Amino acid sequence: MKLNRRTFVGAGVAAAASLSAPMLHAQGGKPRVVVIGGGAGGATAARYIAKDSDGAIDVTLVEPTKTYYTCFFSNLYMAGFRTLDSIAHSYGTLAADYGINVVHDWAIGIDRDAKTVSLAGGGTLPYDRLVLSPGIDFVDGSVEGWDISAQNAMPHAYKAGSQSELLKRQIESMPEGGLFAMVAPPNPYRCPPGPYERISMVAHMLKNNNPTAKIMVLDPKPSFSKQGLFEEGWGKHYSGMVDWIGPEFGGEGVVVDPGAMTVTIDGEVTNVDVCNVIPGQKAGRIVEIAGVNDGNWAPIEADTMRSTIDANIYVLGDATSAGDMPKSGFSANSQAKVAAMSIRGELNDARVFPAKYANTCWSLIATDDGVKVGNSYEPADGKIAKVDGFISQPGEDAEMRKRTFEESIGWYEGIASDMFG
Ligand SMILES: Cc1cc2nc3c(=O)[nH]c(=O)nc-3n(C[C@H](O)[C@H](O)[C@H](O)COP(=O)(O)OP(=O)(O)OC[C@H]3O[C@@H](n4cnc5c(N)ncnc54)[C@H](O)[C@@H]3O)c2cc1C
Repeated sequence: MKLNRRTFVGAGVAAAASLSAPMLHAQGGKPRVVVIGGGAGGATAARYIAKDSDGAIDVTLVEPTKTYYTCFFSNLYMAGFRTLDSIAHSYGTLAADYGINVVHDWAIGIDRDAKTVSLAGGGTLPYDRLVLSPGIDFVDGSVEGWDISAQNAMPHAYKAGSQSELLKRQIESMPEGGLFAMVAPPNPYRCPPGPYERISMVAHMLKNNNPTAKIMVLDPKPSFSKQGLFEEGWGKHYSGMVDWIGPEFGGEGVVVDPGAMTVTIDGEVTNVDVCNVIPGQKAGRIVEIAGVNDGNWAPIEADTMRSTIDANIYVLGDATSAGDMPKSGFSANSQAKVAAMSIRGELNDARVFPAKYANTCWSLIATDDGVKVGNSYEPADGKIAKVDGFISQPGEDAEMRKRTFEESIGWYEGIASDMFG
């Protein structure tokens, strides 16, 4: 065979691919944990397993992106309270300080009998325990007229990064007195107060730059998280700007047309300038590929976060049905620590304490006007059950609301370093 440049390059790639699989395997007979997804749940799990096992467990983290943008505080980024850089995180510290093998690739297959993960780049990773924390995907057909190919015309901005930048630009370019529409998601979905914090932040932007513009929220749910607090805040800071339309008045069954930039409510067509479609959600696709889903989500054991379908697989975060816990970064981080402890118990004989979980969701309504809702959780009767909680009260004074906002900034810094080192 004549060796021309094309065949030479091809042969080199093939050789690299066949070498890459054994090279990715752990050396020295250590137990191997593979974590899929380097977001809130996955990064925390990888870090805690590596840190607390002191190198006795080989940890590989599979994540396609080199920079992870947190959805938490992405609404604040849009309204100018944070820079995009301040919500960006990379994996250098997890690799350098914790010895985690970070592989930037997509996991595309899981062989549960062979206990291997296959990667889009061609490699294969064997595991003793597998952790899945892939976040969410969108349910096809959840909003009539919208699919993922429409995300540039009508962004979801429910995975942070370029989508958040796009939505921000679209809001900033709205014509004077224009109309912003949000199609809110049905339950259950990532971050229950997220859409309504976003409405607050959009209103904040418009009040400053385009005060005659209007906001319309089309909601399939009859009520939503922290509703009394948000509605009080919208009345106080953005009077007359926000129109929330629940299912009784056509908020359910909305049809969108991304080409024409219209939304149809109860047969009536309305032209919109910006349309933020947040579709119905399900566990990230790899959960279905692994076959550890029951319908849209992954069922887990309440005291370990282990899949109820495969004892070698743990599932964390948004992808799970986690009883009373909401889908949040705080929840995913809390669940990851329970899973890490259980995995170290199984692979490393580490001591395992009873599972305890926590969550708090802060939301910013206007400058220095922060509110929060939080709970602690424990396993009870096979599910993760709410133990006790707290929520901000309507009518709180400005000092208290400012303290709540400041608390959220401290939380962000703390949890980001708990995830990414
Ligand atoms: C607007 C908004 C505001 C929010 N605000 C808050 C807040 O204030 N507080 C809070 O606690 N939570 C908040 N959240 C929710 C929070 O972002 C999520 O609940 C959290 O990120 C879930 O963590 P996770 O690990 O399940 O998924 P993610 O953090 O989404 O991580 C999943 C990762 O898996 C990777 N992945 C997916 N599939 C694969 C695959 N096949 N192979 C390899 N990698 C893969 C993805 O690239 C991604 O990096 C907010 C969300 C939104 C949208």
